[in-house]
Amino acid sequence: MSLQLIELFKGFRLMDLLDIAIVAYVSYKAIQLMQGTRAVQVLKGLVVLVVSTKVSEWLGLYTINWILRNAMTVGVIALLIVFQPELRRALEQLGRGRFFSSPLLELAEEEMNKVIDFVASAAEKLSNKQIGALIVLEKQTGLNEFIETGIRIEGYVTAELLINIFEPNTPLHDGAVIIRDDRIMAAGCYLPLTENPNLSKELGTRHRAALGITEETDAVAIIVSEETGVISVAKEGKLTRYLDVKTLKNMLRDIYEIRDKKPSLWYWRKDHA
Ligand code: ATP
Ligand code: MG
Repeated sequence: MSLQLIELFKGFRLMDLLDIAIVAYVSYKAIQLMQGTRAVQVLKGLVVLVVSTKVSEWLGLYTINWILRNAMTVGVIALLIVFQPELRRALEQLGRGRFFSSPLLELAEEEMNKVIDFVASAAEKLSNKQIGALIVLEKQTGLNEFIETGIRIEGYVTAELLINIFEPNTPLHDGAVIIRDDRIMAAGCYLPLTENPNLSKELGTRHRAALGITEETDAVAIIVSEETGVISVAKEGKLTRYLDVKTLKNMLRDIYEIRDKKPSLWYWRKDHA
């Protein structure tokens, strides 16, 4: 055994090290790239499928094994078709050199608190003026595919910018704003509508879009009704309506597990002002 190991190391060349390092780096980058998409869930499903196939093989469950193996063959083709847009985008990014760009920033609790304050304050003002709005906060599930349906902004979140975006009869007001960390990624985004048949008739497409995105992903959506000024929050396909600003803030803080409920004194980015 130890002899074999020594043999293995004897045969180890510098090029092998380079080989392994490159494969590791590219795999890491590929995973990082996928984090922005729904491909992560599919990948998890794939892992489950591969593991069950192996397990059924070991246990001698031949019928199950046969079905799983065939499902995998079809699955690979299905994956190529389903993820055709993502694959194309990945190749495009590779071509543009974006593949090697820096990872997404993770937001500190304090900064998230500030984003929540801005969103809540914008919702309050929009509600008072009865201006319709739909704001989506990205969580774990990447929303790139929805961001790409809108107009890119990538600007720091402020109440003023949010209010400005939803100003009626302006190019960006129609559709949803999507926020990732402390950035407004895009406005005018098109979201999937819920097919839930049990919704009240007074809820139109804005509310249905908010529910749709929260059914499909773990995102949270804040809706201001144009007709009534009512503020609602959608989460996991469920709507909580008639919120005041305080309740809205508390709800969002709970969702982001921010324990300190007091608005804290803290410094914002210097380049933010
Ligand atoms: P409100 O209470 O504000 O009237 P509502 O739920 O009744 O809201 P509508 O009156 O149908 O909804 O609102 C239409 C607006 O909702 C559109 O102008 C658009 O801005 C937004 N909207 C509609 N469908 C979508 C969608 N699929 N994705 C994002 N936004 C959408
Ligand atoms: Mg309406």
